[in-house]
Amino acid sequence: VTGEARLRSAADDAFLADFAELGAFGRTPAGGVDRQAASPADVAQREWFEALLVAHGLRVEYDRIGNQFGCWDRIAGAPYVVVGSHLDSQPTAGRFDGAYGVLAAAHAVFRLMESAEGFRFNVAVVNWFNEEGSRFAPSMMGSAVYTGRLAASDALAVADRTGETVENALARAGFLGTGTGPAMAAAAEIHVEQGRLLENAGTTIGLVTGSWAARKYRVTVVGEQAHSGATVMGDRRDALYGAARVVVAARDLADDYPDRLHTAVGQLEVAPNSPVVVASRVELLLDLRSADVSVLESADDRIRRRIADISQQADVEIELELTHAWDLDDYQAEGVALARRLAEELGLPHQQIRTVAGHDSINLKELAPTVMLFVPSVDGISHNERELTRDDDLLDGLALLTGVVRRLALGDLQASS
Ligand SMILES: [Zn+2]
Repeated sequence: VTGEARLRSAADDAFLADFAELGAFGRTPAGGVDRQAASPADVAQREWFEALLVAHGLRVEYDRIGNQFGCWDRIAGAPYVVVGSHLDSQPTAGRFDGAYGVLAAAHAVFRLMESAEGFRFNVAVVNWFNEEGSRFAPSMMGSAVYTGRLAASDALAVADRTGETVENALARAGFLGTGTGPAMAAAAEIHVEQGRLLENAGTTIGLVTGSWAARKYRVTVVGEQAHSGATVMGDRRDALYGAARVVVAARDLADDYPDRLHTAVGQLEVAPNSPVVVASRVELLLDLRSADVSVLESADDRIRRRIADISQQADVEIELELTHAWDLDDYQAEGVALARRLAEELGLPHQQIRTVAGHDSINLKELAPTVMLFVPSVDGISHNERELTRDDDLLDGLALLTGVVRRLALGDLQASS
């Protein structure tokens, strides 16, 4: 941030070298990555990561949903500070999203292994399975099963578009474990911001206080299949036309709440999706997010009314099903304060921030004190091959994460006992 050259330690160089190696898995020509959950590139990077953890003396285990843990077992029977993120990616993505948090977690533990005096807890590095949800919905699957928010049997039965289930994909890759993973005493995650607030402010560290609220829906538009040339216009019940109007309505909805509501349709499934056929059925996934729950509630109401109008005007049936919802969700304030103190000790500029994107740690904080940190994303670019975080920011984040995990392992956020 200051533009001054930073003094790098051998441990810093080791982190950057490992991160460069990790970035080669599923590399795309444009310099991004494609490593969707349990794809060949994801399997290869998991094998590489297991070897790295084992080489540093960690015990690797997989739970029943394929979460990958590198356990540093020091104290028999003690629960773990669980620190990590996810290595899986969207189909064409950047190499920082998730991957930075997993590798930083591993290197934080490698650093702590040199001195762990007074630790009350063990520490486990984690690579959560299928955070992105692009191949298997829903997102944040591994951490949701770990915390019990999602039943393992439901998650394992989810199929991708080819019909392959999570269970088969994990078993085939050799990552289907049996247990529920190491018990958690506290958790930490570091992630790239995926926005530009830190960059705009010239700040290195985001102290994440909570998440935006979100509502996710599956919208099913049902019309009637017909010849797209011959059928008289007035007779058409075009599901794709109805769906297109829903997409536009979602975008218009955001304009009703400037800067306070994000809306998106990220996926369309058109049937039969044939050149000379009026679509009979379209499924789309609609996503509403806001830092204000009352905005979400009124947006929900408005989109339902608009959909009722569209249904009439396009002569199609439209069903709106809420599939996933979370409210404004705060991290424990003590964790934010702890991270702020440590950032100050390290001389790192910091600010509080709310995450718009979902993260595994949002699930974890329901069960244990959890600290969430951000480092800047250049131009806020995310879920894009051009995603970039500068080396110095990666290293500053790693230094802070190491300090946070140390304090968590010492029991700083546990109610005094
Ligand atoms: Zn991520």
